[in-house]
Amino acid sequence: MFDARTVRRDFPILQKPINGKPLIYLDSAATSLKPRPVLDAINDYYTRYTANINRGIYKISEEATERYEQARKKVAAFIHAKDAREIVFTRNATESLNLVYYSWAKEQLSHGDEVVGTIMEHHSNFVPWQQLSKERGVAFRIWNVDKRGLLDSHDLDKYITRKTKLLTFTAVSNVLGTINPIKNIVKKVKRVHPSCIILIDAAQMVPHMPMNVQDWGADVVVFSGHKMLGPTGIGVLWAKLDILGNMPPYQYGGDMIKEVHVHETVFNDVPHKFEAGTPDIAGAIGLGAAVDYLSRLGMEQVRNHEKEMTKYAFNALSSIKGLSIIGPKDEKKRGGVIAFTMKGIHPHDIAQVLDEDNVCIRVGFHCAQPLHEFFNIGPTARASFYIYTTKEDIDSLTSSLTKVKKMFA
Ligand code: PLP
Repeated sequence: MFDARTVRRDFPILQKPINGKPLIYLDSAATSLKPRPVLDAINDYYTRYTANINRGIYKISEEATERYEQARKKVAAFIHAKDAREIVFTRNATESLNLVYYSWAKEQLSHGDEVVGTIMEHHSNFVPWQQLSKERGVAFRIWNVDKRGLLDSHDLDKYITRKTKLLTFTAVSNVLGTINPIKNIVKKVKRVHPSCIILIDAAQMVPHMPMNVQDWGADVVVFSGHKMLGPTGIGVLWAKLDILGNMPPYQYGGDMIKEVHVHETVFNDVPHKFEAGTPDIAGAIGLGAAVDYLSRLGMEQVRNHEKEMTKYAFNALSSIKGLSIIGPKDEKKRGGVIAFTMKGIHPHDIAQVLDEDNVCIRVGFHCAQPLHEFFNIGPTARASFYIYTTKEDIDSLTSSLTKVKKMFA
């Protein structure tokens, strides 16, 4: 039975008060806290078998290689990839998206082609396509949301044409919380346009709910390790093998080659041809431990807990006059991310007052400035939840926000 209070015991950072007050961490959409098994796995690599991978013919190097490759298999199983070779380790979702931009889009797309993205994208899945359009004359078309913050798939015909070579969208918005209907969108597009590549930014989904890349029918999926209990510095690109096979390497160097001669180089196989140089070995191993941890909890339970916290927070925050939440109101249609404004109060003032109570939230555009401009609003405040969030945390948020209201009224 899932119990956030039991889960919290695994997080060393939650055990130590800061300035005598407990830490109320409500910024998991930015990065998650790390549980003991992940910290132990990283420590174990650095204290017991530090060695480079793929090179040493000695025990600790062989163990490091095996654990690095085991992590790849764990990630593959976690997202239901067909084959572990479909998993490329990168630094984060941003680097995975840049890999697609450099090795696929810049190679394959030219003037006259079209890319469709959405207004709710994180900058990391917006700027590359905007720049591609400036550099190459590839049209970048933007699929807008409705007033509730939902994409309307009936609108697809307006955006997708025979010239669309890439459709990309986030699985879950990091501002609106909207969960997009991936399978429906993919099915609809592939029915009329099977060769259109569909790229999903799953940075806010993989940590929070069960997912199955094969079931989606999409072509490429990206996410970061640090938002799903793993360390910073490790990210994932999943893509179908034929797509990866046709993409040239993104960076050159050691490990991504099979043979190097004075005038010729033979590149390594997928996925190694995209992992040049010494990778973040400890990061991958830590991510493997994070996947084990989440799998033990069960992703259905993780999702149910977040729905419960989101519903509770909606009720609690609605008691604060002048506070408006953006995005869909139904917790079944959204992840555990709530962005809001308070009438007449700047989000930075909100965050500063909350910080006095150790309530950590994020304020600003959350790397989604076009979305804020679309809604014609300035920066917002954002609280986001995860497996260790409790109703008491949300009560602390509500009481600190009530304090803010009194101070600035
Ligand atoms: N995509 C979404 C939806 C995000 O929320 C984020 C980070 O907040 C990213 C991409 C980028 O992730 P990273 O900074 O780990 O590369």
